[in-house]
Amino acid sequence: MQETPSTCPYCGVGCGVIIESTGSQITGVRGDPNHPANFGRLCTKGSTLHLTATSTITLQTRLLQPQHRAQRGDKPQPLPWDAALAMAADRFASTVTQHGPDAVGFYVSGQLLTEDYYVFNKLAKGLIATNNIDTNSRLCMSSAVAGYKQTLGADAPPACYDDVHHAQCLFIVGSNAAWAHPVLFRRIEDARAANPGMKVIVADPRRTDTAGMADLFLPIQPGSDVMLFNGMLHLMLWEGWVDASYIAAHTTGFDALKALVRDATPERVAQVCGISVADLTTAAQWFATGATGDPQRRKATLSLYCQGLNQSSSGTAKNAALINLHLATGQIGKPGAGPFSLTGQPNAMGGREVGGLANLLSAHRDLANPAHRAEVAALWGVADVPSQPGKTAVEMFQAAADGEIKALWIACTNPAQSMPDQATVRRALQRAEFVVVQEAFATAETCAYADLLLPATTWGEKTGTVTNSERRISRVRSAVPAPGQARHDWAIAVQFAHQLEARLRPGQPTLFPYATDHADAGAEAVWNEHRASTRGRDLDITGLSWETLESQGPQQWPFAADAATGKARLYEDGIFPTTDGRARFAAHAWQPTAEPRESRYPFSLTTGRLRDQWHGMTRTGTLGRLFGHVAEPSVQLHPQDMERRGLHNGDLVHVTSKRGSIVVPVQADATLGLSQAFMAMHWGSEFLSGSSSTGERLAGVNALTTSVFCPTSKQPELKHAAVKVLKAELP
Ligand code: SF4
Repeated sequence: MQETPSTCPYCGVGCGVIIESTGSQITGVRGDPNHPANFGRLCTKGSTLHLTATSTITLQTRLLQPQHRAQRGDKPQPLPWDAALAMAADRFASTVTQHGPDAVGFYVSGQLLTEDYYVFNKLAKGLIATNNIDTNSRLCMSSAVAGYKQTLGADAPPACYDDVHHAQCLFIVGSNAAWAHPVLFRRIEDARAANPGMKVIVADPRRTDTAGMADLFLPIQPGSDVMLFNGMLHLMLWEGWVDASYIAAHTTGFDALKALVRDATPERVAQVCGISVADLTTAAQWFATGATGDPQRRKATLSLYCQGLNQSSSGTAKNAALINLHLATGQIGKPGAGPFSLTGQPNAMGGREVGGLANLLSAHRDLANPAHRAEVAALWGVADVPSQPGKTAVEMFQAAADGEIKALWIACTNPAQSMPDQATVRRALQRAEFVVVQEAFATAETCAYADLLLPATTWGEKTGTVTNSERRISRVRSAVPAPGQARHDWAIAVQFAHQLEARLRPGQPTLFPYATDHADAGAEAVWNEHRASTRGRDLDITGLSWETLESQGPQQWPFAADAATGKARLYEDGIFPTTDGRARFAAHAWQPTAEPRESRYPFSLTTGRLRDQWHGMTRTGTLGRLFGHVAEPSVQLHPQDMERRGLHNGDLVHVTSKRGSIVVPVQADATLGLSQAFMAMHWGSEFLSGSSSTGERLAGVNALTTSVFCPTSKQPELKHAAVKVLKAELP
């Protein structure tokens, strides 16, 4: 039996795993006791990885050879790799030649490794000269990116998991860590058990399992977060709980924020958020003082937050308003303190680091900055990088639906299920003239639209790196060979790039000099190019070679060439990566949700994760035991709302928004507030069908959600849509 250390491919906790294998068969998995993210622990998803890798259903749904459809709707037919890549290059080259580079788009994934992301980004921005590359991480983290940059000057979570053990007050907001980040949650439970004086505040519209452990639960109305944070600051100012010396020494913009929060009176905040003035006051006091109640004996406060803040039409404002509280109270840059965004996907961070989004460039450079564009062009050996921002996730599919983007390349994600306003996404896939889907699994929803299917490797087979929520870079290693003709994602992108170069810039040296026939060496070469691109940047990892990762284990960035280890927490010196070294307060007024409840659509629909399922269930949905926690889709309503409508558990109901409708059993759930509804995001066409307002067939909860997005981060408001719920009449 062989043992291969690697990383769990599910959530942003980034737990280390040991893969056990015999020959080409994965036989077991256990937590890596030496990995600093989990010290040997795994959750239900991580501990069943080996079973999902080898289940009969998984083997049946793996894509094992390239396939092509002559016509949409036909059964795809196998074709050799060379022919498949030549076909893709012909279609992309002719589209670029006829319609320009912005007529193509790449939609990638936070499940990709950093090396995959790096090559795709260079392919789009360096070779094709379009910034039309975006990722499903746009749906999960872009508001956190924008919030950090707006206030602290760089997209860098300043805290680390160890801070959970140093904090005296934990403020958990918009995060059900008990289900979405279970191993981190175990750590929170440990920290609390070891420190009886610790206070935990949870703010969430639902009384989740995470809220169940709170000393103070704030059941806020959906979308009212900015009002809550501004109201807390109002009270901190009134009571003298702010840290005036920290504000004076390390920040700018406080006067404008002070003026803004004057209107966020306790009474107004209580009314908008749906909480009591007493609870608001307790939250403000505990946060500001680290639960001591006395600013002279201030202890540490750590905020943990996730999609409840990010997936919002005011996502950037929510992030910035929370970070304001940390700056105003000096709760940052010391053990146990700071704003700490939790990443949903295993490598949302790595994608940000290589700039694999429509508005970013390598190593946290900005597309809007001419000097940054010139630096990246020089690194890549191209004349320039286009300045025109690319289409972000929602915009990209809208552009394809409008006929503006004609060729789409989708890698490792299932947008026909996971994107909001699914009807528009499916129209885009239908209208695009050429759709390539590069995937490990034959996803029913998106693969149905593919003209060309390219088989990719997945967990247990891939090699490279990922970065977790606390900036920790871990190796992903292959334990077994690729099945069938599947290839690594980065290698497919490189081989396609070589074909495209022959058509778009014949005779010139390749921009992609990585050996795709020696997977580890090629991936390491990509990593080294990425490392070099970070020199002198806030995330400098020039000192972090694969040998260092081998000998010292997973490391946090920055890790510069002269460093001995990575850095646990940032801004301990009070200097921020802004032009004047000071953090910036951002004054954001509260805005209601984009689609408020109204008489025809009286429920606020929130979407979220289940404990034992992952994304579109391509992997977790193959294992019966992972349905033991929740067996089937449902919409949950408060028992009083059900009673008022004459509904009983298990009744079928139509859940309808302005965009679509689904039929689903209803379940009573007293953890919700009145007029709120909850549905899990995972269920696809196999479990939950629906239809658009014009009668097209759709699948899952995104038949209902809105694609309205935050104007700064472009992250859509997946956490709120107005819906109605009506009992289905049985024939
Ligand atoms: Fe995997 Fe996340 Fe569970 Fe850790 S907590 S085992 S990373 S799913």
